[in-house]
Amino acid sequence: MSILVVGSVFFDSLETPHGKAERALGGAATYFSVAASFFAPVRMVATVGEDFPQAEIDFLTKRGIDLSGLEHRKGRTGFWKGRYHEDMNQRDTLALDLGVFSDFEPKLSPEHSKSPYVFLANIDPQLQESVLDQLGAPGVVGCDTMNHWITGSRDQLERLLKRVGILVINDEEARLLSGERNIVRAARKLLQMGPERVLIKRGEYGVIQFSPDSVFAVPAFPLEEVFDPTGAGDTFAGGFMGEIARSGGLSESSLRRAIVYGSVMASFVVEDFGLGRLRALTQDEIDRRYRQFVSLTDIDGA
Ligand code: AMP
Repeated sequence: MSILVVGSVFFDSLETPHGKAERALGGAATYFSVAASFFAPVRMVATVGEDFPQAEIDFLTKRGIDLSGLEHRKGRTGFWKGRYHEDMNQRDTLALDLGVFSDFEPKLSPEHSKSPYVFLANIDPQLQESVLDQLGAPGVVGCDTMNHWITGSRDQLERLLKRVGILVINDEEARLLSGERNIVRAARKLLQMGPERVLIKRGEYGVIQFSPDSVFAVPAFPLEEVFDPTGAGDTFAGGFMGEIARSGGLSESSLRRAIVYGSVMASFVVEDFGLGRLRALTQDEIDRRYRQFVSLTDIDGA
């Protein structure tokens, strides 16, 4: 079953304590789509400018991503420049040029509007809602957001959350949105705002899933070196939603497996700059790391 994702496709210039990358392919929808494409067919709705290279179109197409919803417009593709601190949970935005993304208005084709699985990556909640208005009756809707919308568009965001099944958010955003410092209390408040599940991403500390009657936590895969954390959250969401679409299941055990797959994909993407690691990734490597992940948390293991 295919997944529809709506979000940004950008170029990123990145600086981390391990080095630099100039104008690497990035954007939330890109990381999500590439990660999800290892599990299920993906349809991407986004916008790029005239400077978007054919080689990247070819790469995304080769991954089986349906680009019929990728709008090519006169102007520049969005650009973001970020620098990470020694503590890579901290980063500064050095430049942001939204380019053609500044007046992005997602439009779904009749085919896209029938998508059973939908992920609303981090964009203006008003646009996220406009996507929901264009959808028939999707089975599963997930969404992400960021500080900018929590503080600037709270009413729209709260309206959106009433219509979303799964909220995927990082810990800092969860605190800001809920007004609670403690992450468990924050999650409880977020559940009261509408979603049936809240997944809180905690960077190198892993992910916790909350539903009204369960809590499930996985650590991040222990890596000796993290080269570039950009897009780790979107990649997590791609692996997570991808596995849900592949298995078609929403049982507690299917969701738990999907969370581990999401964590596996995120653990790969941070091993190189931008999408570098995912470009070279194989199914075998994913399966092997999934098994390592399972044994990492096997409390009965020898
Ligand atoms: P993450 O590391 O999960 O926050 O995702 C980073 C990605 O978000 C980068 O690839 C950026 O291109 C993209 N990005 C940065 N700023 C924005 C923005 N204002 N709107 C949409 N996407 C953005």
